[in-house]
Amino acid sequence: MPNAIASETRANLRQAWVSLTEAAPRNDLSLNLTYLEDAGHTLTVDDARRQVEAGAFQGSQTAALNFGFTRSAYWFHLHLDNRDSQQNEWVLEFQYPIIDQIDAWYIFADGRQEHRQAGDSIPFHQRSKSNHFTNFELKLPQGDHVDILLRVETSGAIQMPTVIWNEDAYAAQYHKVQIVFGLYYGLIFAMAIYNGLLWISLRDRTYFLCMAYIAGYGVFQLALNGLAFEYLWPESPWWNNRSIAFLMSFGLFFIIAFSSAFLVLPKNAPRAAKLFNFMMLYFVAMMVGALFVPYQTIIRLATLGSLFCAVAIFVVGLYCWLTRFKPARYFMMSWAALLGGMLAYTLKTFGLLPSNFFTEYAMQIGSAMEMLLLSFALADRIKIVTDENTRIQREAKTVLEANVKARTQELEHANRKLAELSATDGLTGLKNRRYFDEAFALECKRSTRYLEQLAVLMIDIDHFKNINDTYGHPVGDQVLAQIAEIMRENVRRDTDTVARYGGEEFVIILPSTDTGGALQVADKILQSVRQHLFVVGELTLPLTVSIGVATLTLPDAQSAHNVLEQADIALYQSKQNGRDRCTLYREQVGKQAAR
Ligand code: GH3
Ligand code: MG
Ligand code: MG
Repeated sequence: MPNAIASETRANLRQAWVSLTEAAPRNDLSLNLTYLEDAGHTLTVDDARRQVEAGAFQGSQTAALNFGFTRSAYWFHLHLDNRDSQQNEWVLEFQYPIIDQIDAWYIFADGRQEHRQAGDSIPFHQRSKSNHFTNFELKLPQGDHVDILLRVETSGAIQMPTVIWNEDAYAAQYHKVQIVFGLYYGLIFAMAIYNGLLWISLRDRTYFLCMAYIAGYGVFQLALNGLAFEYLWPESPWWNNRSIAFLMSFGLFFIIAFSSAFLVLPKNAPRAAKLFNFMMLYFVAMMVGALFVPYQTIIRLATLGSLFCAVAIFVVGLYCWLTRFKPARYFMMSWAALLGGMLAYTLKTFGLLPSNFFTEYAMQIGSAMEMLLLSFALADRIKIVTDENTRIQREAKTVLEANVKARTQELEHANRKLAELSATDGLTGLKNRRYFDEAFALECKRSTRYLEQLAVLMIDIDHFKNINDTYGHPVGDQVLAQIAEIMRENVRRDTDTVARYGGEEFVIILPSTDTGGALQVADKILQSVRQHLFVVGELTLPLTVSIGVATLTLPDAQSAHNVLEQADIALYQSKQNGRDRCTLYREQVGKQAAR
């Protein structure tokens, strides 16, 4: 029958001695554990006990024991002594919940020995206390003491943050911890659902990726805290031992996909996009590997990949930010929150930051902030895109308006030109008959309305037929053009209209002009034509014109229309009287003509 560990060796083992007192319901044992590596997995509990007695166990002075990834089994020793506590019931708790298997042997003073087993490869219901942390119950009445030997074996890292609680303190503590977890996982759950709903409503792939990442990360955290084993798959130790590497790779796959989509890497940083695609492939391989390849291999590869991925996302995000891709700023903030949380937790673990609520839960706080900021970044991105669209629309509208304006001006210009062309006589450049008819009708109306005088001159070239007959039609055309020029020069008022009435006949409208004025203009034209040398090639031709003048002195609609006819009668009279003259229409002229 085994006895208690011999008292004479205890001097060597002071480190492993812990006294439980009424004043300290919670004792951190992390610095008290002494350990022995069992690389060959050969030691039995009796061997281990002998090694303790031989003083072969050693301790860490600085921080909780952490052996990293190891294939060895480790033995730990502790001596607990309930000096003055009224409590009988104690809980030994291991706060690194993903250790595969912990065996504990209690060796009491009276020689009793008890064996217990726990860990995440043992179905959850066998655990002493239903808690995400691995734990053993221990009955240790006041005055009693016990030696505890622990054998730890796992496919991942061995870390041994260990605490002993009296049962009351234990229950009270977990009441508080539940609230923190409830808040944290509640937030993650809500953020995942929120992004999922946004995905359904907006049909933007980025929301799906964000949701998948948050969900994956959340379940990964659950698994890491041991809560997934407690609540999601308590009877599946096989899956539990693979879940961590799988969920880690799952989360990383989606954060990479999300980052690539969010930062529009194929456009903003094509080479980074390729790297990200490669990393995604890598984590797909890790997910498959997590199910088939031994945990210790896959967790190392995945952890290595995650470090690379954290740096890569940070660097690429920074690059996008610096190259003025606006949405990158909140993305960077969120990523910095996550990395900051991890850093704070690591520094706390190494004793470089004080242990308090914020450092203890730095990972949770950091990742919660990250997820909130990610959702904010998504909203911000929508705003940026909307602003950009509005700007483009506004610019497009301005350009369109300018185009329409320019086009309208062009059209107006063309219209004016067309109107001018259609109003102009091609040979002489004077107004044509069509224009004259309109202008004349308008002037008649105007004169009638304002009771103003209106004079009309009818001009016909004398013996023009002879010129055509003698020198040919082209010469006649040139003469017509020169006569037109003379008339233009002699009729200067803006309101006057000189038009080719037809053939070699012209007509001039002189609004607001009395008889005297009209006769003056007629006289000037007669003189100018007389004096003008009509030079056509080698030829110099003498020419004259005959003019008929009619005026409207007491305007009324009826006489307005007659005035043209009267001018024509007067012109006829000029021809009759010997040409090269001007005749003013009078009543008697009309009568003579009628005869
Ligand atoms: P008058 O008026 O002095 O009685 O004699 P006229 O020779 O001018 O007589 P009439 O009015 O009958 O002749 C008009 C001539 O003008 C007929 C035609 O040969 C000529 N003519 C009409 N239009 C044009 C034209 O556009 N170009 C040329 N070259 N000749 C034209
Ligand atoms: Mg004629
Ligand atoms: Mg004539």
